[in-house]
Amino acid sequence: MKNKKVRHVLGISGGKDSAALAIYMNQKYPDLNIEYYFCDTGKELEETLELVNKIEDYLGKKIERLKATKNDHFEPFDYYLKSVGNFLPSVQARWCTQKLKLEPFEKFIGNDLAISYVGIRGDEDREGYISTKQNIQSVFPFRINIWSLEILSKFFQNENNDSHLKLYQEIAEKSIFLRAREILKTPKGNRFTLSKKLNTLLGISATTFNKVMFQFLKDKNYPISHLHDFSLLVHEDNLNREDIFKLLRDSGVGVPSYYEKRTFTVDDITGEYARSRSGCFFCFFQQKIEWVWLYEQHPEKYKLAMDYEKDGYTWIQGERLEDLIKPERIRQIKLATIKQNERKNSKKSPYLIDSLIDSESVVCANCFI
Ligand code: SF4
Repeated sequence: MKNKKVRHVLGISGGKDSAALAIYMNQKYPDLNIEYYFCDTGKELEETLELVNKIEDYLGKKIERLKATKNDHFEPFDYYLKSVGNFLPSVQARWCTQKLKLEPFEKFIGNDLAISYVGIRGDEDREGYISTKQNIQSVFPFRINIWSLEILSKFFQNENNDSHLKLYQEIAEKSIFLRAREILKTPKGNRFTLSKKLNTLLGISATTFNKVMFQFLKDKNYPISHLHDFSLLVHEDNLNREDIFKLLRDSGVGVPSYYEKRTFTVDDITGEYARSRSGCFFCFFQQKIEWVWLYEQHPEKYKLAMDYEKDGYTWIQGERLEDLIKPERIRQIKLATIKQNERKNSKKSPYLIDSLIDSESVVCANCFI
């Protein structure tokens, strides 16, 4: 492979994981000249913008604010909303992510080769956004397995077993090679799946696996194929949610303030709520209790969200925001939340977002990581 210039990029979404990833990469891989960016929809909470500023201060480096349009009269979200005839985005029709997050990012990269660092944690089972553009490759530094599923699928083709054996023999220490040998020879199949094979090899030595993968990719057409060396090859970390909160707190950047739980009282019972994610204040991924949170913590933003509901379009299927804030409805939602939290608190996580909702089961890597 010719050694073309490869950019290293990291998107800050305003959520905890991408913020922690920026801190982690800065601490652990200062040699990488990472470009940071934030796709601004124009509809973020102040807390999100504050977090971006704090990370920028911490890094001592500019975070590029990318806007899907530079129109003087409309914020990006409003500009595209108008262009789709006020059709509000929804889980099924997420034009906003495409227009406001993916397209500005891909424009920022252009035709350059880029490695994009994505903050999917070691305790998550998802891939997030994988660019379909050949010139952008995602790498996952919070996981012991830093590679995308697409690359792993190529690597673990059974016809590659012999060449992997050779590479291991060349690269690995003898004791590691001896332990990996049988695993490498065993064909992948229903009984010995890709993830079993992968996890076994990572368990023996993630660093060796990464070095072998790096060699394997040398004659492939990936951005990483153009690098002489790659700092993340020596990588054995696997970070979970606890680690992410610790990174944020220890760095002084802190946890985004919308995660902080606040108490409410309903029928003389005290409950707690918070916002579980970054992204637009009116994001349709919100749970109903989060809409109540928005109404009570940022009433002006709630009012703005209500104003978008016209021509029969609503943020929540089957319920208008003006109905959701009727006192009896708020009471129902709060009581339901208290019950739900009681059930989930048995998991004993110290973080409200764990008990509030299973927020991260909904994948929107671009907006919420
Ligand atoms: S945060 Fe929600 S509304 Fe905003 S762009 Fe992302 S998915 Fe769309």
